[in-house]
Amino acid sequence: MSLLDELQVILGPGGLLTGTDVSSRAAGVWRDDSLDALAIARPRSTEEVSRILALCSQHRVSVVTQGGLTGLVHGADAANDQLILSLERMRNIEDIDSTQRTATVQAGVNLQTLQEAAEEHSLFFPLDLGARGTATLGGNAATNAGGNRVIRYGMMRDMVLGLEAVLADGTVVSSMNHLIKNNAGYDLKQLFIGSEGTLGVITRLVLRLREAPSSQNIAFVAFESFESVTKMLKSVDRDLGGALSAYEVLWNNFYRLVTEAPATNRPPLSADHPYYALIETQGNNDKLDKQQFETILESALEDGLIVDAVIAQSATEGRNIWAIRDDVEQTFRIGTPIIFDVSLPINRMEAYLIEVRSRLDAALPQNTLWVFGHLGDGNLHLDVQTAAGDALAHRPIIERAVYEPLKGIGGSVSAEHGIGLEKKPYLHLSRSSQEITLMQTLKMALDPEGILNPGKIVDATRENAQ
Ligand code: ZN
Repeated sequence: MSLLDELQVILGPGGLLTGTDVSSRAAGVWRDDSLDALAIARPRSTEEVSRILALCSQHRVSVVTQGGLTGLVHGADAANDQLILSLERMRNIEDIDSTQRTATVQAGVNLQTLQEAAEEHSLFFPLDLGARGTATLGGNAATNAGGNRVIRYGMMRDMVLGLEAVLADGTVVSSMNHLIKNNAGYDLKQLFIGSEGTLGVITRLVLRLREAPSSQNIAFVAFESFESVTKMLKSVDRDLGGALSAYEVLWNNFYRLVTEAPATNRPPLSADHPYYALIETQGNNDKLDKQQFETILESALEDGLIVDAVIAQSATEGRNIWAIRDDVEQTFRIGTPIIFDVSLPINRMEAYLIEVRSRLDAALPQNTLWVFGHLGDGNLHLDVQTAAGDALAHRPIIERAVYEPLKGIGGSVSAEHGIGLEKKPYLHLSRSSQEITLMQTLKMALDPEGILNPGKIVDATRENAQ
């Protein structure tokens, strides 16, 4: 029997897609090209995933696991001799435990679906990002997703208590821990979180839920200097006593881009300040939380730390402020920009951006550099476009201008998007050769045939290991 016939037997009717059922699908949510693969396997259980991987191991056929395809670094790209393993039929929320405050889910469940299910139990799953309606929890774990509330709750890694993964040879490693504290040896789940499907396939997860916040306050403020931006972060974080849930900063040209026509968001503050921030708090006492937030902002105005501010007076106004921060689509107006998610110490940001600007200007006159992002986490998004809208044609020059200055200042080429194929050439700027060698050693130990998402993050073959 051929591999496809054997897969068909494992998966049953509708479980295996081939031909135009593959090529009619887009390669990614924000992409125009279509999927190219041997076939798409759509298992319904961990056991089916295990049998598929055992079979592929035997046939030495590569397997690329796909979730919601909302990634930005070509981490789930497949080729026509590789099998796509899609977890789209593994969408069960198996359990929500209100006492232990955990959710047990299959890896194909959407992020938003879990957020809503938690809400029904008056609980809260804090991971949040723009692609919440499409991204899957398995993908969030495999890429260690970040997003909007990392400053308060951490990244996906901090919300996973346990997981089940299938190794390249089909071995199921069930590590469905429900405990907050468990120091019994190696924390094996961490091998699979953030390793982008290169070490195993995550099939189920135990996630930590929190008590739902019942009050939320959102302000949009303006600054005259970067020093004030950083001082304000320290000051609100201290004075709010742990309630700060987002500190998102917008540089002037990004603010103008997303609040001036043809963008449809109305500007809440005048457009002539160099920096703006969205500040969000979450708490559990409507009246007191609001008073405290207003007092903090008033004294920041008196001290000259901020020069203007508006506080959302309703949930709609709050959403409108978030919509300004989230309208990243505006950077796509004249063509696809190159999008970065760098991490660096906050006190190096100003000098770093001066360096990036000067490198870009030297290489590409009339480029545009938009800067915004999760400043409270030390994570900036840089979107770069040329005057002609053809940034993609100049990708290596632009990437070097953004990535190279990170090396000397302890920065990272990826704060939250991962490495995939896109950042693989620059991994060495953020990781030492010893670190990369250890990554290759792990890869070869867990996936000796090299069938799991090959070529992503690092190359690892027996040849280059010696
Ligand atoms: Zn982000």
